[in-house]
Order: sequence, then structure tokens, then C-alpha cells
Amino acid sequence: MPDVTMDQIVSLCRRRGFVFPSSEIYGGLGSTYDYGHYGVLMKNNIRSLWLQAMVQERDDIVALDSAVILNPRVWEASGHVGGFVDPLVDCRTCKLRFRADQLDQASCGRKPSKRPGETPDCDLTEARQFNLMFKTQVGALEDESSVAYLRPETAQGIFVNFKNVLQLARRKPPFGIAQVGKSFRNEITPGNFLFRVREFEQMEMEFFVPPADAEQWYRYWIDQRFGWYLEYGLREENLRKREHSAQERSHYSSGTTDIEYRYPIGWQELEGVANRGDFDLTQHTQHSGTKLEFVGEGGERYTPYVIEPAVSIERIFVAMLVDAYHEEVVAERDRTVLRLHPAIAPVKAAVLPLIPRNGDMVEKARSLHGELRTSHVVEYDDGGQIGRRYRRQDEIGTPFAFTIDDQTLEDDTVTVRDRDSLAQERLPIGGVPAWLEEALTKRWRTPVA
Ligand code: ATP
Repeated sequence: MPDVTMDQIVSLCRRRGFVFPSSEIYGGLGSTYDYGHYGVLMKNNIRSLWLQAMVQERDDIVALDSAVILNPRVWEASGHVGGFVDPLVDCRTCKLRFRADQLDQASCGRKPSKRPGETPDCDLTEARQFNLMFKTQVGALEDESSVAYLRPETAQGIFVNFKNVLQLARRKPPFGIAQVGKSFRNEITPGNFLFRVREFEQMEMEFFVPPADAEQWYRYWIDQRFGWYLEYGLREENLRKREHSAQERSHYSSGTTDIEYRYPIGWQELEGVANRGDFDLTQHTQHSGTKLEFVGEGGERYTPYVIEPAVSIERIFVAMLVDAYHEEVVAERDRTVLRLHPAIAPVKAAVLPLIPRNGDMVEKARSLHGELRTSHVVEYDDGGQIGRRYRRQDEIGTPFAFTIDDQTLEDDTVTVRDRDSLAQERLPIGGVPAWLEEALTKRWRTPVA
């Protein structure tokens, strides 16, 4: 297991303003979080790198942004109204509620060292089915006809737009539709920080293929997605693929593989890749009366199969922080460092005048900062001892720091400090933008064995 605890990650996120408990001044709201400055920047990076791999660098996938609240019949057709349920038990003694299928991972409310049901005082109810969709009302009338749901996944918004995209984007299978957006689930046992929350940002891509090619594309997407995590710095020993057994698979799936990450809470699903067959398009065809099929130029017609890689930004965010977090002693001083891939790091470089009272140094630093920030998120910092400023940047994962010192005033060179190796080298100040550009596009691998 990684030698970092979830508490260390939570504490760093709080201390450095990545993530705050939501509505904290009112006591918070269970498992709901707000993102601060660095959290927003890091989430933006994860989202845009996913979109880059899925849409920008491919000819066969287009983007979509569907509504959060859809016609409720969508959720009847998809099976969510009837079947998106978890079995739930209540304890009449401690009043806590548990997932009946996860009692072995829960703790008794009175005796946390025991599982629910293990003490003589535990008094569990029979399991009941609990729908995870958040209900809401659309319009002024509050009756059955106005009931609607916040989407529990983004995928259905893609399926109901299949015909639009097929016609207007002039695509034919194999092709995909990618979407990023908020999804909502009234999870019974949320927790473990951002790992299981009630409001999260999903990144899903539905890839429509001829049925005979489905198995091959399913394997292809498992490998693509696994490779994406390695490319952005997750250590291979903390990643694995786990294929679901037939009993474990969802009703719509004819094959599902989880890409799991070794979180501090153990191996858990980071991303799921599923072969959904023709389930969704067939269901929506039956319920809507609109035929969702592909008709070829020669008149051949079929309902495409769907391969779906689905993940949330939250689960990637936590995995990347866990992988990157290190506490170490350097020159007899403690340092906490986030060894994030430079493309994921919220801030790419810091510009630091060595002596903040020195007007010439400040002026040069400000000018370099002004130049670099037109292309990248770069921070200027003149608050406090230089050592403390380096530590602050280490903690938020900034890969490079440029320091303006006495020598800069003599020969227009600056020091660049590398977060990972702590190596320092001198560069002409005029060459810094090109140097940074190159450093940020170089292949990066964590130096941690
Ligand atoms: P789990 O079994 O962990 O509840 P799931 O199999 O229900 O997950 P999917 O419905 O396959 O999850 O959702 C696709 C992806 O969305 C998951 O792989 C995960 O990355 C993410 N996800 C699902 N539920 C949550 C949640 N409550 N909080 C954060 N991310 C989530």
C-alpha cells in the first residue's frame, strides 16, 4: 500500500487551498467539497488532458455537452428509475444506515472495532432497495408530472443524441462521443474524501462500433486508458486491470474491466471500461419510438455496440495526489513535495526575487513573470525566506522555480531549481521562456523507485 494516508492528503489539500469542505461555516454538508485555487487549476489540467487524448488528437471522436436534467423518460428507458438502487439496512440501535452488500467494510456505530450486526446490541432491519438518483421538480407545479432527476451519469445524454451526431457530424461506426460534466448520486455511504462523493465530474466516452468488432475495441480502450495513466505519471505498481465476473457485471454489460488504483484504502475502481452491447440504443429506440441505428450507403443497417470508458475527475485527482505525495528530509529539514507530472501540476513555475527588498531584483522578477504568464500558470512570490518559498512551491507541486539574485543584476542569468532532483543550474534570463516550454513538454517519469 502507498505509505501515505488519506488524512495526509486531506490535510495538504486543506492547508494549501486545493479543497475545502463545502459550506464549512454552516458545519459542512456530508461528503461535499469545494475546490480552491490550486484544486481548480489541477482539475482543469486533468479535464483538458482527457479531452486532448479523446477529442483533439483523434479523428473519430466528437464532443458533446448535454443537459443535467433530461426528460425523465430517459431514466425509465435506461433502467435507472427501476434499477439504480443499492440495498440498504438500518440499525435500530445506533440509527446508522449501511449498504447491505458492504457490511464487511463498515463499522458498528457503538463499537467501531466490530462490523454492523456483530454485537448483541446491533438490531439491523431487512435490506430495502434505495434509489440513488436525486429527485427534483421542474416548473411551478409540484405533482407527479413534474418529477425529474439530476443525472446520475453523463452517458445517457450521449445516447439520446446519437442520431443528431450521426447525421450532423457525418460519422459512421467506429466513432465516439465524449462528454465531461457533473453527475449526482445520493450515495448511502459516501466518504474517503473525494473518492465517493454525491456530486462529481464524470468524463465518459461512448464508442459506437459494428457488433462484430466490439470485443476488439473493448480491449483497445482498456489499453488506451491504462496507458493514459502511465503517461501522466501514475506508477505502474499502483495500477492494475480487474475484469468483472459475470455475476458482478451490470445488467447492460457483456464485459467490464476496472482500472484499479492502490488508494490508501486499498485497491479500488479508478475507471471502468464496459462493453455495453446494444442495450442503450435498443432501449431508447423502444421507449422513444426513434430508431437509433446505423444505415450504411449500401442499405445495410444495424444497432451499433457501445464501448464505454468512464471515470470521474475526483478519482483521478485523489490517485494523482496519493502517487505524488512524499515527505522527506533534505539538508536536515523536512519537506513535503508533490511530485506531480508537470502537465498535471497546478502551477508550472515560480519566479522568486532572492531579496524582496531589492528593487532591481523585484523589477526583473516581475518582468520575467509577466512574460511567462502569457503562456502558462506561473506564480510570483516575494513573501518570506527563499527556503520557505521553495517549500511552499514543493507542497503544491510546482516543477520549476526561477530565482533572480545578485548575479542576475550583473550578467542577466537566473537560477532554475528542479523540484524533483533539487538540482540548480544557471540560464540566461532571455532563454527562460524557451527553456520552460521544452521542460514542460519533455517526457516525465517519477524519480521515486
Ligand atoms: P462504484 O462501484 O465505486 O460505486 P460504479 O461502478 O457505480 O462505482 P460507474 O457507474 O461505473 O461507477 O461510474 C463510472 C465512474 O464514475 C467510476 O469509475 C468512478 O471513476 C466515477 N464515480 C462513480 N461514482 C462516484 C462517486 N460517488 N464519487 C466519485 N466518483 C464516482
